[in-house]
Amino acid sequence: MNPVLLETRGLRKYFDLGAGRRVHAVDGIDLVIREGEVLGLVGESGSGKSTLGKTIIGLHPRTSGDILFHGQPLPAQYTPADYRRMASQMQMVFQDPYSSLNPRMTVEEIISEALALRGGFSKEQIRDRVAFWLQRVGLKKDHMVRYPHEFSGGQRQRIGIARAMIAEPRLVICDEPISALDVSIQAQVVNLLADLKQSLGLTMIFIAHDLSMVRFVSDRIAVMYLGAICEIGPADEVFFNPRHPYSQALIASNPKADPDTEKVRPHQPIPGEIPSPVNLPKGCRFAARCPLASDRCREESPLLREISPDHHAACHLI
Ligand code: SF4
Repeated sequence: MNPVLLETRGLRKYFDLGAGRRVHAVDGIDLVIREGEVLGLVGESGSGKSTLGKTIIGLHPRTSGDILFHGQPLPAQYTPADYRRMASQMQMVFQDPYSSLNPRMTVEEIISEALALRGGFSKEQIRDRVAFWLQRVGLKKDHMVRYPHEFSGGQRQRIGIARAMIAEPRLVICDEPISALDVSIQAQVVNLLADLKQSLGLTMIFIAHDLSMVRFVSDRIAVMYLGAICEIGPADEVFFNPRHPYSQALIASNPKADPDTEKVRPHQPIPGEIPSPVNLPKGCRFAARCPLASDRCREESPLLREISPDHHAACHLI
């Protein structure tokens, strides 16, 4: 078994709204990610998965809990020196390839930022690394003199991946890297990430809505609901045999091919509204939408229980 790269213990990120009100965006996450592993993080909008990714990488200071990287605790709030030090350890690929690239910078300047931050590279070395990574993500080295607006959405996301990879980080957090792209382009970007995982033994957190894409690239899947993990286990097990009622509803809501009409049935929203993350419900967070909810579910919060040594779910019925 590979060594543990990242561990979170009781990680919380709350956003203060004033007058004692707080958004419980991430609410007590315990995770262990091993070197070379890809963890898929899924859940509806507002489940807290992007906030979790940004808290792990230090873009949001955490409210409480611990983050350990290679067994070493990370600071609760990063200083500029911490950002510089961690840039070669953790990188992020952002959701929106349009807004995440500075329109006034050339592709070379964008991709080389992490190397410039680290220092110690000559101009030639930086240019060679940029050329290498442009070609590695399926672009041309001549593209380095161009600006982001000269590229399609899929190409911009490839630039975003090259920008993250050039620092040779130990962990890459991909925050919904395909959701802003056309369906025809999504598979190409996922294939690229799967290829990087295979060839570089990349450790990755892959945050996404589309469960079939997540299953394709992930070793394990964690399902998040209202800031907490409700199920975590091997990707195929969670996808084909989800145990938590929310995981079942999430997978049932996925677009599906209909063999009768030979058309794709679009995404079906899960019935019911997500409760407010400001006033979290007592008991199980999913009780208001769960078809199996009992009185106990509305009173008592279920613990993450073991189904098998590497598969856990939080439901009174498990
Ligand atoms: Fe549904 Fe109860 Fe399980 Fe929550 S604990 S998922 S409400 S059955």
